[in-house]
Amino acid sequence: MVQETQPPFAHSGGRKILFATSEAQPLIKTGGLADVSSGLPEALRQLGHDVRMILPAYPQAVERAREVHTLANVRIPGHAGHCLLLRGLMPGSEVPVYLVHAAGIFDRAGNPYTGHDGHDWPDNAYRYALFCKLATQVALDRVGLAWRPDLVHANDWQTGLLPALLALEPYRPATLFTIHNLAYQGVFDRHTFDSLGLPKRLWSVDGLEFHNRVSFIKGGIALSDWVTTVSPTYAREICSPALGYGLEGLLRHCGQRLTGVLNGIDYATWDPASDPNIPQHYDTQSLDLKVRNRAALQREMGLAEREDALLLGHVGRLVEQKGVDLILSMLPSLLNCEHVQLVMLGSGHPGLECRLREATARYPDRVAARIGYDEGLSHRIEAGSDCFLMPSRFEPCGLNQLYSLRYGTIPIVHRTGGLADTVVDASPTNLMRGTATGFVFDYPDAGKLWYATSRAINLARIRSMWWRKLALTGMAQDFSWTSSAHHYLDLYEGAIAAPIAIPFF
Ligand code: ADP
Repeated sequence: MVQETQPPFAHSGGRKILFATSEAQPLIKTGGLADVSSGLPEALRQLGHDVRMILPAYPQAVERAREVHTLANVRIPGHAGHCLLLRGLMPGSEVPVYLVHAAGIFDRAGNPYTGHDGHDWPDNAYRYALFCKLATQVALDRVGLAWRPDLVHANDWQTGLLPALLALEPYRPATLFTIHNLAYQGVFDRHTFDSLGLPKRLWSVDGLEFHNRVSFIKGGIALSDWVTTVSPTYAREICSPALGYGLEGLLRHCGQRLTGVLNGIDYATWDPASDPNIPQHYDTQSLDLKVRNRAALQREMGLAEREDALLLGHVGRLVEQKGVDLILSMLPSLLNCEHVQLVMLGSGHPGLECRLREATARYPDRVAARIGYDEGLSHRIEAGSDCFLMPSRFEPCGLNQLYSLRYGTIPIVHRTGGLADTVVDASPTNLMRGTATGFVFDYPDAGKLWYATSRAINLARIRSMWWRKLALTGMAQDFSWTSSAHHYLDLYEGAIAAPIAIPFF
């Protein structure tokens, strides 16, 4: 067993933070949680805090982390084998990462949550319960690291049991739980709860019980000192029945303890002036060069290489939430404008994948799609598109519209969640004021999306000066991690100063 020393950067005022997550870029990524899980810890570290991450030891994560070695051999009651606690460093950073290894549990290739058939692993409740049990031991300094965090920051349902297990301890670190997407809750039947070997006290309406089932995310919400979500608008939306998934009452009950903090983006990775994934670098001084990325993208995706084209892009999971069906439904109107082209990247629902393939086969010069996950191409779409479509039915924060703003690509978004908080509509008033950054529509249907898109098409065609202004205003916005990290630090202090009283323990 190895005792861990304090790193030199942790000055006297620095906090010790254990950041628990089920994915982190570039170790493993399925969505925005991975981007946040690399960006926020690094920003906190740069502000002088001793932040350490803990993740399951998926094979890709072990392969990609730097200097991985075994720290401790840990027994978790109820789990037949030994668990190993590995330690490494995040690639390109000095943030330490603990990786939880349990033979046959996390060492499965591919998507962390689903098997090759696309279905959830049947033992996901067991897997993430085990992860949380071990992370609890680390948080309580019971594995011999001689390091005890002041606060544990847990993220999404996979880590929801961690604040719940810590809440049972008389002497524990403060806890903060972030909801990245309330649509994913980790809800399992009563029998599963019984099989997890969790303390029986947690089966309570004030704890994990949710309509006679067990809800991992409810543990994080009900039993953390503070709860955050990833935008102020989404924080309000989840307190209503439409987006609260039955948890709206509990979330309303959190009152001031529920805060929306906008995600930042990694300005080193997403910078059109230095992005190694794009053929032509540019910045606000050389925005005219951006069109070269469009030409390259047209070539790469097999679209007609028209200089006068207006290229619309989309990247994302092909699921109902993202409104991809709305994009497909407005295609007939879109394709009436003969200079408009569409490029899409994503994977997910087989029905949507099939509709996308049909569209590309039917209009090969105008519509191109790549089904799959491709980090490099996602950068080239951001750089090469003129507009980025995000008609999400709901969107907790959304990252791609932030990347678009950074790349001078005009976002067209539904006014929901983080999209509403980050994109300013190009109304005549906002254009005159110089605050407009994109096009925003109020209701997620194909008609409203088409209306917003046609406004963009008209502005691009008629008034190129305004178009340029729109792009430059977007590029001037600051969505770096630093301001979000300061906001989180204030909340950490609040949680440390005033832990919640847990009534039923
Ligand atoms: P969510 O977390 O709901 O999927 P976000 O907008 O918060 O949505 O984050 C999605 C992240 O995943 C972005 O960084 C986006 O570029 C990336 N992404 C999604 N699908 C793909 C894909 N098929 N290829 C490459 N990157 C993708």
